[in-house]
Amino acid sequence: MPYKFTFDLSKIPRFFFKEIAMVSYQKDMHKKVGRTLHEIIRRFRIQEATGLNLSDVVLILEDFVEIQGRNFLEKDRFIKTRERALFLPHCSRKYMDSRCRAVFDPSIPSYICAHCSSDCLINKAVSFAEGKGYDVYILPGGSCIPRILKAKHYEGVVGVSCGEELKQGGELLRSMRIAGQAIPLVKNGCANTSFNLETLYSIL
Ligand code: SF4
Repeated sequence: MPYKFTFDLSKIPRFFFKEIAMVSYQKDMHKKVGRTLHEIIRRFRIQEATGLNLSDVVLILEDFVEIQGRNFLEKDRFIKTRERALFLPHCSRKYMDSRCRAVFDPSIPSYICAHCSSDCLINKAVSFAEGKGYDVYILPGGSCIPRILKAKHYEGVVGVSCGEELKQGGELLRSMRIAGQAIPLVKNGCANTSFNLETLYSIL
């Protein structure tokens, strides 16, 4: 299930996410994650910047930590994979109406990007990933993923989505013995969601 609230961390400095990654890396070494997260939230004034209440911020960041921790654990196995797919959320398209020239193919199921806008986040992600040899899917929802994974036999999958969906997707990949890497959205919602392209590029 996606979060029951919207958030936007896209204006938060990149250093903040490096701090989160560091906490994730250290997660299994000590049990002070909760206290550390509260300190990071206070230091980066996350509540003031996002307008979220503390419990929602903590929920998002706990998911970030868990996802980053999983990425660390899976990284070596993922790097050795050859047949890979990238799953992108359709809500990160520049347009959610007819101005988006992508066509939805229900037989896959995925939108096929027509590369109509050079500044579209999805366009950039698709072009880069395909250049790296990935099969790329632009999905209207997580329910499409099992169908794609059963039809194809990927060794590695990179997923971009909100934290809760990524955790569910991670469970599915583990049950299918597929190596995964996950990138959480920094801005959620039904449209104009966003993720960090640099993070995506570094994982691909
Ligand atoms: S670049 Fe692709 S995803 Fe973005 S608006 Fe155009 S067709 Fe849609």
